[in-house]
Amino acid sequence: MANFLQHCFNRQVSLAHLKLLSNFFLLIALVLLVFKPAAAVTRGDASFPVFEVSTTDSGRIEVGSRMGVLVDTSKIQTEGETPPVDQEWQTITRRSPNFGFTDDAYWFRFQIENLEKRNLSRFIELAVPFLSDVKLYHYKNGVLVKHYALGNERPFAQRPVRYRNFVMPVNLVPGPNAIYMRLASNGTIEAPLRIWEPERFYAASNDESLAQGAVIGILLIMIAYNLFLLFATRDINYLYYVGFVANYMLFHLTLTGYMFAYVWPNAVYWNGFAISTFMASTGLFSALFCNSFLRLSNFSVPAYYLMRALILLCTGLLLLTFVLPYSLTVRLGAGLTFPIIATTLVLGYWRWWSGAKFARFYCMAWTAILIALAVLNANKHGWIPLNVWTENASEIGIVLLVLLLSLTLADRINNDRMLKLNAQAVALASERKARAIQQALFKVTSDTNRELEQRVQTRTTDLNATLEQLKEANERLQLLSTTDGLTQIRNRAYFNTAVMAELSRAKRMKTALSIILFDIDHFKRINDTCGHLAGDACLRALADLLRPRIQRPGDILARYGGEEFVVVLVGVDQPHAITLAEDFRLAIERLQVEVDGGMLSFTASFGVVSVIPDASMQLQDILSAADKALYLAKHEGRNCVRAAEFS
Ligand code: GH3
Ligand code: MG
Ligand code: MG
Repeated sequence: MANFLQHCFNRQVSLAHLKLLSNFFLLIALVLLVFKPAAAVTRGDASFPVFEVSTTDSGRIEVGSRMGVLVDTSKIQTEGETPPVDQEWQTITRRSPNFGFTDDAYWFRFQIENLEKRNLSRFIELAVPFLSDVKLYHYKNGVLVKHYALGNERPFAQRPVRYRNFVMPVNLVPGPNAIYMRLASNGTIEAPLRIWEPERFYAASNDESLAQGAVIGILLIMIAYNLFLLFATRDINYLYYVGFVANYMLFHLTLTGYMFAYVWPNAVYWNGFAISTFMASTGLFSALFCNSFLRLSNFSVPAYYLMRALILLCTGLLLLTFVLPYSLTVRLGAGLTFPIIATTLVLGYWRWWSGAKFARFYCMAWTAILIALAVLNANKHGWIPLNVWTENASEIGIVLLVLLLSLTLADRINNDRMLKLNAQAVALASERKARAIQQALFKVTSDTNRELEQRVQTRTTDLNATLEQLKEANERLQLLSTTDGLTQIRNRAYFNTAVMAELSRAKRMKTALSIILFDIDHFKRINDTCGHLAGDACLRALADLLRPRIQRPGDILARYGGEEFVVVLVGVDQPHAITLAEDFRLAIERLQVEVDGGMLSFTASFGVVSVIPDASMQLQDILSAADKALYLAKHEGRNCVRAAEFS
């Protein structure tokens, strides 16, 4: 490619850039390369130089730019034309016999002097595979002895020597032989001519095939390897890479004439523009690769759009190569190639400079091809000597490019993998940390909960205990407030409340309710004669006597006041109430209370009232009736039971 580009830009402004670069790399190349001067013996007129051949020469003579030249602006191709022998021939002034893109045909001439006494067989190689029209005229003493008409536009089989370049055998008679050549092309015209001793040519051709085979082998391996990686990783960059390498390989093999020689020897029409097609497709894939690999869309919007524009141009050109003439598309392709290489390289370095480490091999790769380009350019101009390295700079460059680009991809995958691993490690660490925090939090929460539960339990227990105490206190209080302190039976307040409830129930159930009111007889005397404490003891003894007798639910025994008591009997009618009152009276009468060593007894008077109360009945009326009955009992002699008639 570099070789080709050099020709393409031979007359283009952009070559100035290449020359600048090449001058730089030339210095390096000069130090590195072993100097080997190219030797050729010439004499005669500069416009018609003489090259001497003999059985003892090196077997390879570079004609270079030592030829006479004549421009044929008509470019008319006729089979029978004759060399313009009598016209004014010029000397080639340029350092290499390259004429770039031109629509003109060019005539060249030189002489070969056979120093031997016998005929010598030699090959004249035009070391380019592509030229539309190649004609050679071999004259001996002004007589045409051999004529060749070759070119791309004829099937490969018509070539006298089956070789990718144009090789024309000549049988040199002793003495001077004049060689005239006419070249016309749709693309560039260049005339790197060599005179070969046939055996030497075949040996060199074998070496070259081996070298080319090695290069193609490497490219094929890289294609296969990266195709495998493409399927394994599904990374689109591999597709672009494989596309680039495959298309470049096709371009290279087409450009060097191998495809025409071995793959499509009869496809003259296709061969006529295949270079343009592969050049455009190579450019397209390199732009796609650059765009995707350097992640331009995330990096720089202008760079991204520039690359997009180049991709579009390449795509357009790729399609146009099938439509427009080769002479135009090849110029467009060549014009596009330099911006693509320059852009990919500049963007690569920019990316690297901006901190993208993965761009380093990428930059090295494109720099390698640029150095190769420079070396080739210098080589063509004769600035550096020809040797195996400089002559194959293009192949070395592309192998380096392909290897370094593959390394670039591997490097980036590795980078991405490291980043992923790091991210994973960080994520794992944070997860662990988060889990530890969560566990700590959980522990704290559960501890707190447990503590809280314990506290609540303790509090609840305390509270329950307090409540229990409170309840007991309440009950005690209740008991106290409803109990008579001296006798430990119900007091008047309790009686008032309880009797109301029993009265209501009796009203509701229409059951009987009896009230017995009784009063100790002459109690004042006991107090007066035996003392107040003795009186208290009597009151307690009476209460203790009656308490066990009044145990039915609803029945009430209460101290009504002083030495006066009351009994409420529920569901008990008058006869039964009188009987009970009589029992009580008798029991009291028999009661003996021990006071100060002596025994004390007393009696009591009873007033009984029994009712089946109706709704309008008042407690006050019942009590009043009981009181009257008691009064009657007192009045009628005491220690007796009187019942009140109540309706
Ligand atoms: P009667 O047969 O008519 O009922 O005569 P009595 O003496 O029992 O009646 P009175 O109402 O005149 O006297 C009641 C006495 O009871 C007066 C009072 O000092 C005494 N007393 C009232 N409450 C108590 C008490 O709690 N303890 C003592 N020791 N005496 C009391
Ligand atoms: Mg009394
Ligand atoms: Mg009394």
